[in-house]
Amino acid sequence: MTLPPEIPIAAPELGTEEEQAVLQVLRSGRLAQGPVVESFESSFAHYVGAPHAVALGNGTMALCATLRCLGIGTGDEVITPAFSFVATANAVLYCGATPIFADIDPQTYTLDPVSVEAVLTKRTRALLPVHLYGQPADMAPLRRIAQERRLLLIEDACQAHGATYGDTPVGMLGDAACFSFYPTKNMTAAEGGMVTTADASLAQRLRQFRNQGQRSRYDYAGYGLNYRLSELHAAIGVVQLAKLPAATAARQRTAASLNAALADLQAAGVRLPATGAGRTHVFHQYTVALPQRDAVAAALTDARIGTGIYYPQPLHQIPFLRPPSGAPPVLPHAEAAAASVLSLPVHPQVSAPQVRRIADALTSAVMHGSAERHPATVPKG
Ligand SMILES: *Cc1c(COP(=O)(O)O)cnc(C)c1O
Repeated sequence: MTLPPEIPIAAPELGTEEEQAVLQVLRSGRLAQGPVVESFESSFAHYVGAPHAVALGNGTMALCATLRCLGIGTGDEVITPAFSFVATANAVLYCGATPIFADIDPQTYTLDPVSVEAVLTKRTRALLPVHLYGQPADMAPLRRIAQERRLLLIEDACQAHGATYGDTPVGMLGDAACFSFYPTKNMTAAEGGMVTTADASLAQRLRQFRNQGQRSRYDYAGYGLNYRLSELHAAIGVVQLAKLPAATAARQRTAASLNAALADLQAAGVRLPATGAGRTHVFHQYTVALPQRDAVAAALTDARIGTGIYYPQPLHQIPFLRPPSGAPPVLPHAEAAAASVLSLPVHPQVSAPQVRRIADALTSAVMHGSAERHPATVPKG
């Protein structure tokens, strides 16, 4: 039997402020979308510097509603990275459109603009880059492609609350951006989602769509569903948003300490996270890449250190996402990443002594593994 990790891979920071906020909503008697959701939206819009923010039930709903309200549907192709969480591709399928997978940049794990160019067709309607692990995708060249080809540009920002690209915050880098507040994300609402946009008409369509297409009670603008966020969830979100800057700084400090503690392992083939020029990384995950990944992960589990593999399979090789006819595309960097990435604990509760413990355990696992493969190089004594 495996003991639970002493340093988990994720740990939401919930305290008495969140408890008080939820209790207050419970006692108010108003549970469904109302003033607390509105206040969560306005503080999130302010944080991102976005003219509009629309709250939805979760990040997947944010993606589905955004694509649909932007008019993406049957016959359309949406280009997205092959290396992401499955929700990115599912949202495209939900709209009746086809996800077209492009490769990633091997350094940053984000959508490679050159690979995007290679899969453009006359059916391409939108680019859907993912700010993976908390690092913005390389948005300038993607925006250039989107402008030249008159494509929509939608950010999957579910892992990147508070990151920036140049002077621009994530959430303001395209036509719309979708955030998630799942418990493992950089901030949580238990479940929750948000769309930020400068497009007032899109914001209005999203507000209607999430509420059965209603302009006002029983006055229907069109088709819609119940994609609303509850007041209870929004209450947690408001408190968590206020804590986000400090939590992000803590993640960045821990990532810097891990970088320093693991620097020597680069000679043994361990690749540390790289941040692209002009970008800030908010370290939703601290992810290394190494050839002997599965054995090292098992060793860390034995040392009671939580790890994660995000993601073990590239999207283009998942059976239901493969093209109906023909072989799946070959996307070498996405495939290599799926085989070699390993995320280590970087959340705000990771302490300095725990950084040391993670680094020591990883070092010993890597050295032990390489000694087994190359016995001749084991130092004597
Ligand atoms: C978490 C996540 C989602 C989905 O968000 P949920 O709130 O879990 O529905 C979508 N895309 C990415 C990249 C994510 O990490």
